Amino acid sequence: MEKTFIMVKPDGVQRNLVGDIVSRFENKGFKLAGAKLMMIPTELAEKHYGEHKEKPFFGELVDFITSGPVFAMVWEGENVIATARQMMGKTNPAEAMPGTIRGDFGLTVGKNVVHGSDAPESAEREIQLFFNQEEQV
Ligand code: ATP
Ligand code: MG
Repeated sequence: MEKTFIMVKPDGVQRNLVGDIVSRFENKGFKLAGAKLMMIPTELAEKHYGEHKEKPFFGELVDFITSGPVFAMVWEGENVIATARQMMGKTNPAEAMPGTIRGDFGLTVGKNVVHGSDAPESAEREIQLFFNQEEQV
């Protein structure tokens, strides 16, 4: 079954949005296959966001994602990668539809509450970066 990596970012954890975000994926019918609260080491953050290395906001992005605890998760289900991205809404919360996580809770592109893998390759890569086998059911 398809799996994806979803993470509540430091702003979402700090604002006590973990429960609401977990509920949305549970209510949709997806199965939780791994979860943990953690601080991301800088090296892991740079790997995770490696595709954005050359972007002007890379430093800011790494600083932000390492600034406080995140809630990292693996979710499983049919078409979960694309469906989770729809449930998250557009990257910029100002453009995200009401009813989506970013549309409901976010204001700025830097602090957009949640991360989700964007393709099967990135999902596999990110799950491996954040979870070892024993941490997944
Ligand atoms: P994520 O990878 O976090 O799930 P995404 O896939 O929707 O988000 P990406 O294009 O991968 O968007 O960008 C990664 C993150 O970089 C975004 O979530 C956002 O926080 C940040 N970001 C993207 N564009 C900008 C920008 N123009 N200025 C500042 N931060 C940005
Ligand atoms: Mg992305």
